[in-house]
Amino acid sequence: MLQIYNSLTRQLEEFQPLYKDYVTFYNCGPTVYDFFHIGNARNFITFDNIRRYLIYRGYKVKFIQNITDIEDKIIRKAREEKVPVENITEKYTRYFFDYRNKLGILPADYHPRATEMIPFMIEMIKGLIEKGFAYEKGGDVLFSVAAFKDYGKLSGKKIEDLREGDRKKVKKEKEAAQDFVLWKSYKPGEPYWESPWGKGRPGWHLECSAMSMKYLGETIDIHGGGTDLQFPHHENEIAQSEAYTGKPFVKYWLHNGFLIIDGEKMSKSLGNFFMIKDVLDNYSPQTIRFFMCMSHYRKPLEYRKGILTNAQKGFNHIKDCYQFLKEHFSQTESPPFILCDELLHYQYLLPSELENFFKQLFAYKDEYESAMDEDFNFPQAVGALFNITKFLNTHLREDNVSHLPQKAAYGYALLDKLAGILGLGDPDYEKGTSKDDKTMDDIMEILLSTRQQLRKNKEFALADSIRDRLEKSGITIKDFPDKTTWSR
Ligand code: AMP
Ligand code: ZN
Repeated sequence: MLQIYNSLTRQLEEFQPLYKDYVTFYNCGPTVYDFFHIGNARNFITFDNIRRYLIYRGYKVKFIQNITDIEDKIIRKAREEKVPVENITEKYTRYFFDYRNKLGILPADYHPRATEMIPFMIEMIKGLIEKGFAYEKGGDVLFSVAAFKDYGKLSGKKIEDLREGDRKKVKKEKEAAQDFVLWKSYKPGEPYWESPWGKGRPGWHLECSAMSMKYLGETIDIHGGGTDLQFPHHENEIAQSEAYTGKPFVKYWLHNGFLIIDGEKMSKSLGNFFMIKDVLDNYSPQTIRFFMCMSHYRKPLEYRKGILTNAQKGFNHIKDCYQFLKEHFSQTESPPFILCDELLHYQYLLPSELENFFKQLFAYKDEYESAMDEDFNFPQAVGALFNITKFLNTHLREDNVSHLPQKAAYGYALLDKLAGILGLGDPDYEKGTSKDDKTMDDIMEILLSTRQQLRKNKEFALADSIRDRLEKSGITIKDFPDKTTWSR
């Protein structure tokens, strides 16, 4: 039975999705104005592990992660660099996708951009005004916190505590400090959209409510984010969404703990961060993902000197086991993981003398599942993986061990499957994460920019012949007005 800690009820609950085995899952995405750091990566990786485990457990998961592409920080950055806002958001959205892939994180089913949803956000604001939950003030529209009686249910904050000044003053101003903005009026030089309240743009909190509702429905199963988002962002999301629909917004709220450094949250504003692109220069994606499993996802995780070297040793233990196992089962034309998936599927066809071997392996599989079933306990799950590697390393090295190729193949299949949920699958077969892929990325970047130059110089014959030759090698490239993409 899968148990999840729900930040809304502050307790462990049995996981029961709204519709049988179908799970709707939203994770707040990045604001695309900069590269992302290893603290942000903790959020992306945590929810990738959780999503993959749900899939492993047989759920059909619809996973949405937004891209916040309109926000104060983006506008500020565009101003500093004297470029249009779109240049900033395009650059960092692409960067986010690239590095998400490099970290072996599955793409969301859809990554909606906030700017695609403005008409729906305007609809929502209109509805909230009509229902008496929002009011206009000088071109801005604000949400009236006092009108929503459940305000504070996620964070435990009370409206009275949020109000500034004495009661009299608050009463006089009526709508007060705790009210938050749904629509921001236009300021010169900022991007804007037309609305019934004049030119302006949506508030950040509203974006997530709108995108979650549009893609997953009025009530969803899981909403994730870092602990810093619990208040005010998620509290405000609940208020707007529930005031608008009159229905519960989210069944299970999940929040990952902070990645900390010298006792403080890693953050851009404190300047104590390490960008993922720099960390990846020295450590593999699997090392980073192993590190993310070194603490329970809700607890703090400390980033300190030498910690990634420890994580590397930890992952190498699993990687060496993959290598050892692969040396012992007959290689075929297909990559071993395909062979092994079939093996897992047809395990009942394997010789009965292997019963004891299976029993032992299944005991560790159960241990892994129990750990993950108890609110996704990654460190304990890794402990179970280590028990598998220890068992295989010992048993398969015994003198006269029987059925070595079958045992090695089966052991490999199971290890790769379970470890893969945490992003610790065999690096030889993890798409987008091996060293070779990085080299390939670099080579393709050089090739495509050279080809771009040729096209600019109108040397189309040569540019086309590069494209055709790549096509023959199984690489397709596509030209768009502003960019060229490639895929195998
Ligand atoms: P942002 O782009 O700042 O909205 O951050 C993206 C995600 O990273 C959000 O879910 C944040 O809560 C999360 N996050 C930011 N800093 C940290 C940190 N130091 N540790 C863990 N998660 C973080
Ligand atoms: Zn959000």
